Amino acid sequence: MSATTTGAAIVAGVCGQPIRHSMSPAIHNAWIAAAGLDAAYVPFAPGEENFEAFVEGLRGGAIRGLNVTIPFKEQALACANNCSDLARVAGAANLLIFEADGTIRADNTDGPGLIQAIAAQAPGFDLALSPVVIIGAGGAARGAAAALALAGAPRISIVNRTVARAEAIVRSIGGVVEAVSDGELDALLGQAGLVINATSLGLGGGPGPAARLELTPKNAVVVDMVYKPLHTEFLRRAEAAGRRTVDGLEMLLRQAIPSFEAFFGVKPPISVDVRALALARLGEAAR
Ligand code: NAP
Repeated sequence: MSATTTGAAIVAGVCGQPIRHSMSPAIHNAWIAAAGLDAAYVPFAPGEENFEAFVEGLRGGAIRGLNVTIPFKEQALACANNCSDLARVAGAANLLIFEADGTIRADNTDGPGLIQAIAAQAPGFDLALSPVVIIGAGGAARGAAAALALAGAPRISIVNRTVARAEAIVRSIGGVVEAVSDGELDALLGQAGLVINATSLGLGGGPGPAARLELTPKNAVVVDMVYKPLHTEFLRRAEAAGRRTVDGLEMLLRQAIPSFEAFFGVKPPISVDVRALALARLGEAAR
């Protein structure tokens, strides 16, 4: 919310359960203030069983839009009247736009955020030449696999503790996406151009997935979607092996940009350093 917020303000928000620790309000409100917009971005935490009723109540433009996070991304897509190819292929939405005519439009900006974070922190990386290994098969892995497949990755191998969830992603995306077992991981890492931790392992400072990152080709790029802490055990192991790394905070910041544009109709102002703001909130030094 900015100091100039009036009764005519455009309102958007983020919805999840829990939502207390979300960084999205700080990011969007910093952009709103720097752009001098008459707008506000607020957090919502409906009960897990109340998400659909909550969204239905917003039809017709009560607010302009919502970012959606755990555990509502699949339900968000189901609530929408129409959606982008990316949200459809991913089977999940992290962005809902409420049109004045009562319809709801869904999109998924997680995958594009990931691809833009890689471009920013591992410049020159060529996705078309890079077999991908994704560890994890939750909503974040889904969004990543869909975007990477649409962007031209030659092969996307998903390994997950619960194999059935990886197989479900293969069924909905198909094409270059495959589900693999733990036993196949070492051989796949030996050919991988991109390795992504899309599990919650490492969140809060514990060990990440036990994948042997030293087996990857020397020019491989390693991404961790976890950003608390910023320098996860997984990324520290990748760096120790000499691999380039991309952190989860950059992905978080990049996925917020198209959301802001969809809500407020303008690009976020570059005058505000949201990465520094987020790092300060995380209690981290800049990398
Ligand atoms: P989710 O749907 O709950 O999926 C969690 C994933 O982690 C599943 O694959 C789960 O495996 C796996 N997992 C959890 N505990 C495990 C354990 N002890 N051993 C092995 N695997 C385990 O969550 P999500 O939405 O996909 O998010 C995953 C992570 O990405 C979270 O840390 C989230 O904060 C992060 N994320 C970051 C961004 C960003 O912008 N940086 C965006 C989205 C998500 P099972 O299927 O076997 O349970």
